[in-house]
Amino acid sequence: MQKRIMASILIGLFTGTGATSHAAETMPRQMDAHEHGHGELMMVHEGNNVMIELKLPGVDVVGFEHTPETEEQKNAVSEAIAKLRNAPEIFTLKEKAQCRFVKVQASSPLARDDGDHDHDGKHDEKHDDASHEQHEDEGHAEFRAEYHIHCEAPEHFRSLDVGLFRAFPSLEEIDYQILVPEGQYSGELEADKTLLRF
Ligand SMILES: [Zn+2]
Repeated sequence: MQKRIMASILIGLFTGTGATSHAAETMPRQMDAHEHGHGELMMVHEGNNVMIELKLPGVDVVGFEHTPETEEQKNAVSEAIAKLRNAPEIFTLKEKAQCRFVKVQASSPLARDDGDHDHDGKHDEKHDDASHEQHEDEGHAEFRAEYHIHCEAPEHFRSLDVGLFRAFPSLEEIDYQILVPEGQYSGELEADKTLLRF
């Protein structure tokens, strides 16, 4: 049940609706296509649980946003998804908070017809509402990833180092919106400013 609440908060952060209208007011949102070089990060921390969702332009992840045609392009998409699923490379968590990744998902409409990759067999989970939205926006395909984290000592979960600029060097900025027990914040990370404090 708690997960469902967090998911709806995240959807609110993404769309700028519902309980998070303050964020929408303070941060003008791009309602249409993403901007190349700009990723988005949403995080909700509630109790022992943290949920992070990422949206990255395909061009920054694999260098293109069209349906992969060559083997090389198909491999690039699979490798990028594997990279995003390798959560400890993407986020460095404070040891003191005793956090662990409990569930990680990554997807892209660019990967949807890779029939020879059975991933982990959880196709239903991949096709959530978010990825359906992506299907309609093929001109600017994105990668999305979701990280569920459980922390034994959540009071020490006060920062997060984001390794996305290292993983995807053409990223210039990551706009973040976070909802933590202390409040709601938004801002930008850059290649030389990767530590998110809250
Ligand atoms: Zn694009």
